[in-house]
Amino acid sequence: MFESCWRKLGNTCTVTFTGNQSLNYFANLKNLCWFSEPKLEEEIMKLHNVVRNATVEGYHIVVGTGSSQLIQAVLYALSDPLNEPKPISVVSAAPYYLSYPEVTDFLRSGLYKWAGDAHNFDKDGSYIEMVTAPNNPDGVMREPVVNRAQGMLVHDLAYYWPQYTPMTGPADHDVMLFTVSKCTGHAGSRIGWALVKDINVARKMVKFIEINTIGVSKEAQQRAAKILEVISDSCSQTVRLPELDNFFEYGQQLLTERWKKLREVVKRNKLLTLPTFQIQYYNFTGDFTEAHPAFAWMKCKEDVDCEKLFRGHGILTRSEKRFGSDPKCENKHAEQG
Ligand code: PMP
Repeated sequence: MFESCWRKLGNTCTVTFTGNQSLNYFANLKNLCWFSEPKLEEEIMKLHNVVRNATVEGYHIVVGTGSSQLIQAVLYALSDPLNEPKPISVVSAAPYYLSYPEVTDFLRSGLYKWAGDAHNFDKDGSYIEMVTAPNNPDGVMREPVVNRAQGMLVHDLAYYWPQYTPMTGPADHDVMLFTVSKCTGHAGSRIGWALVKDINVARKMVKFIEINTIGVSKEAQQRAAKILEVISDSCSQTVRLPELDNFFEYGQQLLTERWKKLREVVKRNKLLTLPTFQIQYYNFTGDFTEAHPAFAWMKCKEDVDCEKLFRGHGILTRSEKRFGSDPKCENKHAEQG
C-alpha cells in the first residue's frame, strides 16, 4: 500500500550484511528475549514514544516472526500455567480477524480451543479474548466484550497506527501485539512484537518461540529496525531528511484519498453501503479526523452473491461468513493492497 513512499526513499533504508554475521542463534543473552536484536528493541521503544500509541515503560518486548507467531505464543503462555483439565476457550467479537479460529485450532491443542463470537460466549471458567483495535475487518475501535473475572485479554493492535485511525492515547493493556506488516507495510519481513506486562507471560512466550523457531531471523530484525528508525526520523523536525515526508501523514493522506474515491463510487451505487466513522480528536496531528481503515467492510442491500459479482470486476473480496458474522447480514470485505 505504501510502495511509492518506500520507493522514493531509495537507499535510505539499505542494510548490508557480511558473510560472518548471524552465525549463532543468540542476539542478547542478558535479555529475557535472548533472540531479540537490541537495535530493534531500541527502535520499537523510540517509535512508540514518538507516536504515543502504546506505553513501553515497564513492559517486556517479545519479538516474533510476524504477529502471527506471537498470537500462538501468547495463547500458549496464558493457557499453559492454568493446568485446566479441558482446553480453555478463545473468543473474539464477530466480525473477527479470520485467522484467529484457524491459528487456534490448527494443531488441536489440549490447552486452548476456539469458541467463536465473544458476544455469544456464556461458559464459566477461564477464557482468552482477542480484542482487535482497530478491528480487522470493520475498522472499529474495539473493547472487551465478555468482561468476566476469569478472562485474559490479548490486544491485537496491528492497526493502531496514525495512518489508519485517530489515536486517543497510549494503550497500556496487559498484552499488546504489533507488526511491521501493518505499521510500515513490510509484511514480507515477518517481524512482529509483543509488549507484555507480566514477566512470566513474557518468559513463556519466549519459550514458545525458542521451541517453535529457535528465535527470529536476525537479518529481518535488523532490517525492521532500520525501517522503524527511518519512520521515527520522518516524524522528527530535527533529524528529518529533506526527501522524507512524515510517514504517517503520508499514509493518512493516501488512505483519506482512497476512502474519498471509494465513497464517491459507492454513493452512485444502489447495492452497497459503507460504514461511517466517528470524527475524533487526533492527538498525533492535533486535528479532528475519522478512521481510514486499510480495508472496507461493505454492506449489500440485496441478496446477491457479492463475492462472485466483485470477482467478475477483478476485485477480490471476502464474505462475512469467514469473519464469524451473521450470514443474513450481507457484509463484504475488500482489503487494500
Ligand atoms: N492481526 C491482525 C488483526 C491482522 O490483520 C494480521 C494480518 N492480516 C495479523 C495479526 C498478522 O500479521 P503478521 O503479518 O505480523 O503475521
